[in-house]
Amino acid sequence: MATIFTKIINKEIPADIVYEDDLCLAFRDINPQAPVHILIIPKKPLSILNDAEIEDQQLLGHLMLAAIKIADKEGVADAFRLVLNNGAGAGQEIFHMHFHLLAGRPFSWPPG
Ligand code: AMP
Repeated sequence: MATIFTKIINKEIPADIVYEDDLCLAFRDINPQAPVHILIIPKKPLSILNDAEIEDQQLLGHLMLAAIKIADKEGVADAFRLVLNNGAGAGQEIFHMHFHLLAGRPFSWPPG
């Protein structure tokens, strides 16, 4: 099922886009939890990481390499956290899989 992220990919609703290529899009989270809080999403509408298959192996790696590029561009490549909430029980609210790239403040462990 299409989510609000599909509308952002299709430029039907605005977002503060910081990076885009053929396979993915990255934009600032509307409710930032850190000074840098960017969502990195595949253009392919995978609902949840669990839906990924072997054919998505390159795409998943691509998203992480994009995270490094974006962190570098944001000046936070030395310290950032990459989070993926897989499933409602883990805090996923939007069912179009995405990484959260968080940086710019100290992070505790374990995460809340
Ligand atoms: P999750 O809980 O992992 O599914 O994360 C969903 C994230 O999407 C939350 O951090 C929201 O603040 C963020 N979000 C929801 N709608 C938008 C939007 N229109 N633009 C940017 N971020 C959004």
